[in-house]
Amino acid sequence: IMILISTITRLVSTAGKANPWSTLLTSKQLVPLDDISDKLHDDQEAIKLASSDYGNMVKESPTAVLYPFSVYDIISLVKSSYNSYVPFGIAARGNGHSTRGQAMVRNGVVVDMGSFRRQRTGKGITFSVSQDPSIRYYADVGGEQLWIDVLLASLERGLAPVSFTDYLYLTVGGTLSNGGIGGQTFRYGPQISNVHEMDVVTGKGDFITCSPDKNTELFHAVLGGLGQFGIITRARISLEPAPKRVKWVRLLYNDFSTFTKDQARLISINGMKQKNALDYLEGMLLMHHGSINNWRSSFFPMSDHPKIISLITKHRILYCLEVAKYYDDSSENNVDKELQDILQGLNYIPGLYYEKNVSYVDFLNRVRSGELQLQSQGLWDVPHPWLNLFIPKSRILDFDSGVFKDIVLKGKITTGPVLVYPMNRSKWDDRMSASVPDEDVFYTVGFLHSSGFDNWEAFEAQNKKIMQFCEDAGIKVKQYLPHYSTQDDWKNHFGSKWKSFQESKYKFDPRMILSPGQRIFSDNK
Ligand code: FAD
Repeated sequence: IMILISTITRLVSTAGKANPWSTLLTSKQLVPLDDISDKLHDDQEAIKLASSDYGNMVKESPTAVLYPFSVYDIISLVKSSYNSYVPFGIAARGNGHSTRGQAMVRNGVVVDMGSFRRQRTGKGITFSVSQDPSIRYYADVGGEQLWIDVLLASLERGLAPVSFTDYLYLTVGGTLSNGGIGGQTFRYGPQISNVHEMDVVTGKGDFITCSPDKNTELFHAVLGGLGQFGIITRARISLEPAPKRVKWVRLLYNDFSTFTKDQARLISINGMKQKNALDYLEGMLLMHHGSINNWRSSFFPMSDHPKIISLITKHRILYCLEVAKYYDDSSENNVDKELQDILQGLNYIPGLYYEKNVSYVDFLNRVRSGELQLQSQGLWDVPHPWLNLFIPKSRILDFDSGVFKDIVLKGKITTGPVLVYPMNRSKWDDRMSASVPDEDVFYTVGFLHSSGFDNWEAFEAQNKKIMQFCEDAGIKVKQYLPHYSTQDDWKNHFGSKWKSFQESKYKFDPRMILSPGQRIFSDNK
């Protein structure tokens, strides 16, 4: 059928039509796309970009890529599909930083949200102060905006968002479709907990403003909704006065139980405090065959490398607790004392305390220099068979012994950072689509592998082994940035939320048009 379609398309275009996209041919009907035909592209460059992502493991070619100039172009595209006899799939592509084709569409149209950024159209970034004291400062930002740009524009006004991902070259629409987690989540919640309002184009082509008070079902469905209910064209993001500098600390442990106990204690005390609390907490594994570059590159002083390496040799894994406390001119004199008080009583290996003092923006943008380095070596665009999990606190020690100390150490293939840090469930809103474990505290574990083009399947096999171990041991893990192959797995993932997730799909995208690359309601056909 597709050969026939493409032949007909070419015939139509060579028969003297001004633009081949005056119609997008679906198998049964010609869909009029006159008003956006000049924004649809099927040149090699456009198709190639939209057929790949950061994961570099999945390839799906769309029929065309929309470079929207305004929100009306998106509305027009979605309505065309919705009203056609056989609808075609449509996916917003934020910055293509998914790892498994979640922003791809086979034989449909990818909406390149970056087009708004390049043309400086879309919603941009605008700032306001609210009369409502519970909100105060906020920014209205286009769904296409990169978090780095939101941060830099906010800092010009002395403000900043409160919750970040580790890497800032991700879009607002992309992270809000997943959750947006990082070291601030234990205290401020994920990025989806810091949104007041959104404009969304649903799968019917309706343009709807939603918030916790208005069109609430759509609001909650979209946040963590994996792009299934609408394309976010604007989000109203919480801001707070920005600090200037950061005390950034890493502490090393050789015992997982002690490490996780200290992490849990810190998030329990600091997660609930308004003032004088830690602002950031994460953690990671240090292993010989794992993240050595990670720490060797910057944080630890060269003079301590031999000591750290010999400890890794001895213990096989070291655990690195990472915390940060922000400060500015007015709090500069107290920050050391406050930090000391917060970290008092922690049981890290005596003497293995490392501290840096950096600017706030350098801290938040810390992953960028690593990215540029990898890019210059051609190592950024390799396959990334990532696995991100949420693990209930009650089973984190079982996970350590079955996964880190067994599968990972024996496998000897883990490359790239392995992150481990806890979050407070109370900072997540259960009405939102994002699915998290049913315990007050859960950990995220991120295996952020980089592999070669010829061996990523070995990493996938290890990922499968980890999932199988969890299932056999009855550890109720949830995937973050989830990818499953059957609808039963998706049902299991969403658990008690599946029914409402499905109902919202029928309501807001009844023809199953949006983000088919997630493979929840279709096989991306
Ligand atoms: P895409 O990958 O382009 O899209 C993701 C999904 O959202 C797709 O299904 C797409 O169709 C949909 N979508 C995109 N834009 C919109 C929109 N406007 N409206 C509705 N749906 C939309 N995540 C974290 O939470 N924390 C981290 O610390 C973190 N670090 C990362 C570091 C790196 C180096 C990378 C590559 C990723 C990291 N991520 C992290 C994952 C990141 O959040 C996801 O990749 C996410 O998909 C955002 O990427 P993106 O903006 O490029 O979206």
